[in-house]
Amino acid sequence: MVVTHNLGFPRIGAKRELKFTLEKYWRGEVTESELLKQAATLRQINWKVQGCLDWQPVGDFSLYDQVLDLSVALGNLPKRVTDLGGDALTAYFRTARGRAPVDTAENIVFAGEMTKWFNTNYHYIVPEFDSDTTFELNAERYVSQIREAQSQNRTVKPVVIGPVTYLWLGKSKDGSDRLDLLSSLLPAYQQLLKEIASTGVEWVQIEEPVLATELQPEWLSALKTAYEALEGFGPKKLLTTYFGALGNNFEVATELPVEGWHVDGLADRNEVARFVEKLASGKVLSLGVVDGRNIWKSDLNELLEWLTPIHKVLGSRLWLAPNCSLLHVPVDLASETKLDEEIKNWLAFAHQKIGEISVLGQALNVGLQSVESELIANGEAVQARRVSDRVHKAAVQERLKEVDESWGHRKAPFDVRIAKQQSDLKLPSFPTTTIGSFPQTPDIRKTRRQFRLNEIEEAQYREKMQAEIRHCIQLQEDLELDVLVHGEAERNDMVEYFGEQLEGYVFSEFGWVQSYGSRCVKPPIIFGDIQRTQAMTVEWIQYAQSQSQKHVKGMLTGPVTILNWSFVRDDQPRAVTCKQLALAIRDEVLDLERAGVKIIQIDEAALREGLPLKKSEWQQYLDWAVTAFRIAANGVRDETQIHTHMCYSEFNDIIEAIADMDADVITIETSRSDMELLDVFETFNYPNDIGPGVYDIHSPNIPSVAQIVNLMSKAGQRISKDRLWINPDCGLKTRRWEEVLPALKNMVSAAKELRAQA
Ligand code: GLN
Ligand code: ZN
Repeated sequence: MVVTHNLGFPRIGAKRELKFTLEKYWRGEVTESELLKQAATLRQINWKVQGCLDWQPVGDFSLYDQVLDLSVALGNLPKRVTDLGGDALTAYFRTARGRAPVDTAENIVFAGEMTKWFNTNYHYIVPEFDSDTTFELNAERYVSQIREAQSQNRTVKPVVIGPVTYLWLGKSKDGSDRLDLLSSLLPAYQQLLKEIASTGVEWVQIEEPVLATELQPEWLSALKTAYEALEGFGPKKLLTTYFGALGNNFEVATELPVEGWHVDGLADRNEVARFVEKLASGKVLSLGVVDGRNIWKSDLNELLEWLTPIHKVLGSRLWLAPNCSLLHVPVDLASETKLDEEIKNWLAFAHQKIGEISVLGQALNVGLQSVESELIANGEAVQARRVSDRVHKAAVQERLKEVDESWGHRKAPFDVRIAKQQSDLKLPSFPTTTIGSFPQTPDIRKTRRQFRLNEIEEAQYREKMQAEIRHCIQLQEDLELDVLVHGEAERNDMVEYFGEQLEGYVFSEFGWVQSYGSRCVKPPIIFGDIQRTQAMTVEWIQYAQSQSQKHVKGMLTGPVTILNWSFVRDDQPRAVTCKQLALAIRDEVLDLERAGVKIIQIDEAALREGLPLKKSEWQQYLDWAVTAFRIAANGVRDETQIHTHMCYSEFNDIIEAIADMDADVITIETSRSDMELLDVFETFNYPNDIGPGVYDIHSPNIPSVAQIVNLMSKAGQRISKDRLWINPDCGLKTRRWEEVLPALKNMVSAAKELRAQA
């Protein structure tokens, strides 16, 4: 009998119940016991949904973040938090977000750093280490949740992040080597496994997703050390990896002394075949066969063809699950009552993916006939999507074929272009600008909402937005900024805004995915060939330009960012979808140019996010990503100035690709790192203009003139002064006007001072 299970379930709730209760708790509107009750209710619902599987995961639930939960269990909270005392939940939220509900402005602490969970859009709280770090186990969270599930008659499999991945995820605060802590960490894990075993569970899912990255030898040997030390402790171990194949780690991973492995079965079927061949008798192989990172129905019939012979070999030692935790997909497709029925039939959210695993299990165990109607319906849906002319558009395919290398090239090299641009644009040295958005006031949001709900007429909506644009332009003129923006009041989100106007996209109503803590995102869904049917931004930019003698930038989101922040098609390579998006943006760029817009910014905020987990695959990604940007941007005349913007500061390892984009001006995030990131420009001669951010928009602090002058002087040590722009780190939509106005005023004063110095 094949065994079915799941690695983890979204905890936020189908209607984001956890989010709303958490936020109420933080505001002091509900008590701790009400919060915990909501959490227990969600766990109960989730286990029930997964009741059709042989094992239900426990320990995957978290009030904020599962890595932080583990730090708590290991007694590894930052000292600045433990020094403050307080009860467990207070310390937990202080670490997570710098404050707990009981805190006043005086005793807030630095929150733990947050970073992306591998290559997902989920962010975890980074464990902090130093050479003095010790571990002291408190397994209460694991044990009590196991008991809770058992009391609901669930057959549970606890989920624990493994010791090597835990160290890998953390950061050393004093330059010491995290791996030095392994020997003191392992006894805590031995204890944890023992306590878990005391609940009577048979298996533990111990996760080492680091195995999907390219590991240095010392990390591989840490894995050996760790699992040898844990051998014999606790329940049987299902060593779990996801987010890709094992690749070069295959040998080491398969030699570890564990009773079973879970691997990403969608990554590399040849590797799975090697696994099946190698598996010692008695050991379990769990295959992740349903995509936990995307929202498409699986092709169950095809999977069964592949799995049937494997099942013959392994029998009950074959387990089936999604390839990773379902944390990364929305909860329940059934909530989507407004979604296009045809497209809805192609989709599966977490609930539906559990159903798929269950059907696969039954098909293998009881026989295909036992799930005949499910398999027929699945086959029909998969086939309908495959041949749908809503997915495949001949015109888009034809156009893609026309694209050749020349589409990605500007007519003249940068030095020729910039000379023409300068004589056209007549900007001062150290030109000042902003990244695009201005504060989104409650009033703006209300107007957009009213328009969406048909509560106001289009004319009225347009009037209000134009008033907002006039207001922004006036303020920028008063501030004496050099290159103006329209302010982006009409945009809810920099991806959704474009997605809504492109063919090939659909939007869910409740398709929320946890991003961090109580924050969720609702990625739009690309289901078909992308087509732009009409101009998307021209009207607003033209209106803004009509209000000023200064240059107003056209403002677009780039193809790579649109791709990386959407659920994408799994029936064609990402590169192809990206190229389609690039053509749509290219058309918009050319429309803007025709409308007289002289400066066009194409944001690639998320270009870095798309980097594969394995470094050996980076170049391939960068090649097509940069090509897509170039197709979008480079159809313009020499005189048209292309800007791009990126919201991060780690450029060192991808600087050549960034330079290769050949934007005339790039604005980047730098202020927090004190221009350190510009170090890369000492060794790499970045060829075009740069605006290193001088205003940290993630903080309410207002930079002084002196600070800005100082930052720019530092930048000037590495980049020739005639190529520097002055701008904030990112868009200003999350800040308030009371902060933005003085900050920009200081920015302009700093520019004047720098010009006077020159
Ligand atoms: N133009 C966008 C804005 O200003 C850019 C946002 C971003 O980079 N995340 O809001
Ligand atoms: Zn940004």
